[in-house]
Amino acid sequence: MKKIGVLTSGGDAPGMNAAIRAVVRAGIYNQLEVMGISRGYAGLINGEIEKMELSSVGDIIHKGGTILKTARCDQFKTEAGRKQAINVLNVYGIEGLIVIGGDGSFQGAEKLSQDGINTIGIPGTIDNDLAYTDYTVGFDTAVNTVLDAITKIRDTSTSHEKATIIEVMGRNCGDIALYAGLAGGAESILVPEESFDIDDVCKKIVQGKSRGKLHNIIMLAEGTGNAFELQKEIFTRIGVEARVTVLGFIQRGGNPTAFDRLLASRMGAKAVEYLIGGKSGVAIGMKDNKIIHMPIQEALSEEKEFDGEMYKLTGVLSL
Ligand code: ATP
Repeated sequence: MKKIGVLTSGGDAPGMNAAIRAVVRAGIYNQLEVMGISRGYAGLINGEIEKMELSSVGDIIHKGGTILKTARCDQFKTEAGRKQAINVLNVYGIEGLIVIGGDGSFQGAEKLSQDGINTIGIPGTIDNDLAYTDYTVGFDTAVNTVLDAITKIRDTSTSHEKATIIEVMGRNCGDIALYAGLAGGAESILVPEESFDIDDVCKKIVQGKSRGKLHNIIMLAEGTGNAFELQKEIFTRIGVEARVTVLGFIQRGGNPTAFDRLLASRMGAKAVEYLIGGKSGVAIGMKDNKIIHMPIQEALSEEKEFDGEMYKLTGVLSL
């Protein structure tokens, strides 16, 4: 193998730049030519491709976002679109492709692999919704961003003696709400994986008030429901007007944490190693702090296990 490509696809995540840097530097270290493909699969189809040098990835390890830009591309979901993408790869002489993205991007990578292009996937998404890996690149940074917000909201909630609902991202995965909520000392954490009773949330507010608690933080994962509806429901039941903060896209940005930079660097270098070793259709992950790999199909078929023990701990610690 002489020439490889790298792209970022789907939602952006902090640490994607560190992963690109690792791919480019590890590739060049191993005498490969590395091509950067802009705007995900859309850029691949359109031939938005440039040779990357060592200096192309200088000064990016600490930056959020992705220097290659990212996109969602419906055309790539069609056979004609993928055919076009393969043509472009052939024209540029790109023999292997590293895709940094979430489950959708992995499905695209798997299809390319079936069509004979060597592909490796690096999990880049803040959602941490891929079951085969303990962590995805970007999750830890998002958790820390949310934690910072909780800390600030706690100050104002305490001053005004208010209950606050904080809605966070994660799609159908409650990990951001769980990790940030537990670390931030939230009173209630509502996630799609666990059923809940609004009466329990209300009881916590009332009990907290009666023992002199000045705030009550309710974490709501976006896949669980609507923060404003929850606010109404709480008011109807106990007459408490909770404040709502929907954190939104700030969760996607910011400098990646040390954890995400390390994860991205290790995964990026491993992806290059596997491409050189002739592997294809493989997803890189991390289990028990070891970098692992498995077929993308198998990785995507695994069902995410929610950490029930951590979830229960919230109940214990927020009495
Ligand atoms: P995130 O989890 O952050 O949203 P993602 O990678 O899951 O990231 P998607 O929008 O689902 O984001 O997928 C990114 C792109 O991958 C799509 O726009 C499309 O180009 C490609 N893709 C997704 N699903 C498929 C599929 N089934 N077959 C081929 N390509 C796909």
